[in-house]
Amino acid sequence: MNLTQIEVPGHEGVYRIEDRESGLLGLIAIHSTQLGPAAGGVRMRPYYSFDAALKDALRLSQGMTLKNAAAGLPLGGGKAVIIGDPAGDKTPGLLQAFGRVVAQLDGRYWTAEDMGMTPADMAEIARETECVAGLEQGSHASGDPSPITAQGIFNAIRAVARHRFGSDDLSGRTVSVQGLGNVGWHLCGFLRDQGVRLVVTDINAARVARAEAEFGARAVACDAIFDADADIFAPCAIGGILDANRIERLRVKAVAGGANNQLATPEDGHRLHRRGILYAPDFVANGGGIINVATEILRIDAREAWVADKLTALDSTMDRILHAAKARDVSPHHVAEAIVADVLQQDAA
Ligand code: NAD
Repeated sequence: MNLTQIEVPGHEGVYRIEDRESGLLGLIAIHSTQLGPAAGGVRMRPYYSFDAALKDALRLSQGMTLKNAAAGLPLGGGKAVIIGDPAGDKTPGLLQAFGRVVAQLDGRYWTAEDMGMTPADMAEIARETECVAGLEQGSHASGDPSPITAQGIFNAIRAVARHRFGSDDLSGRTVSVQGLGNVGWHLCGFLRDQGVRLVVTDINAARVARAEAEFGARAVACDAIFDADADIFAPCAIGGILDANRIERLRVKAVAGGANNQLATPEDGHRLHRRGILYAPDFVANGGGIINVATEILRIDAREAWVADKLTALDSTMDRILHAAKARDVSPHHVAEAIVADVLQQDAA
């Protein structure tokens, strides 16, 4: 097993991880441990190159520093990526090898589920390390974080509706949802219960068919989601989807979703703002999942009340961001980044 450090300016520690026997190849990126141990999930994807995986790990781990600070958690930012197809390459041996590498980092990085991973996978990783959350069994187990993530996104959707339309009553509104996985599915359930009309897409045709049947959703082709007539767009699939071209195509008044790193570049935050599309910064909107995971890392006893308090605080933070963005006529993304920079500066002082 190999754990090789790669020097990356701005990151505390980036490690190439490899175990030839199990086929494990990937990276663990620790962006910051300033506020506490770096926490962030492990993602498994068939990246087309090691560099693509590195780029994803760096961006995601930096995003976790922002997310954890915005959620008021005593945790830093980190993320792991494993190169491979979760449907065919994921074996108990590979997951245990990953657990052994996490153990070697001596508590500096805590892992949990991200795309391509399940609570059962976390149980396998937990055979080798204590630094794993998102388990379904054991003391302080917090389980699948996606329902709480979806709850937080639902709150963010109400917040943008309040600021953009003057009311957070969503009944009769139309929300377009990209991605009907763990998060997108729960989100559709919350929205449907509020009388929202749904326009959905996913690369998985079976999920789309189920959403049509269960939520009465209108399905569109994957690329057509950017042209859909809706009030609010909720990206819940992959990152980097909001670029100059797609922002120009959007016909919505606001964007609030769960995917990490929705903006292709920081400039795209300004582009949305110039087009009058109110953007709920992703690292604030999707903080519910890490709040749930944090109960396990921090060994919180009164879990439900603690999560509810943190979600309420996150809601207030979103409200403050949207107010400040309006008052200063700037992009909410940049206000949110400035708020986190303040949190980190105050902690350092
Ligand atoms: P998931 O893998 O369960 O679901 C993703 C869904 O998106 C899948 O159904 C997939 O088929 C679909 N998809 C992939 N590419 C697509 C495309 N180009 N167009 C349309 N659909 C596409 O993942 P998830 O746990 O639901 O997470 C979704 C997003 O939210 C990810 O970006 C993840 O990092 C982020 N996130 C998740 C959590 C959580 O609690 N699970 C927390 C915070 C952030």
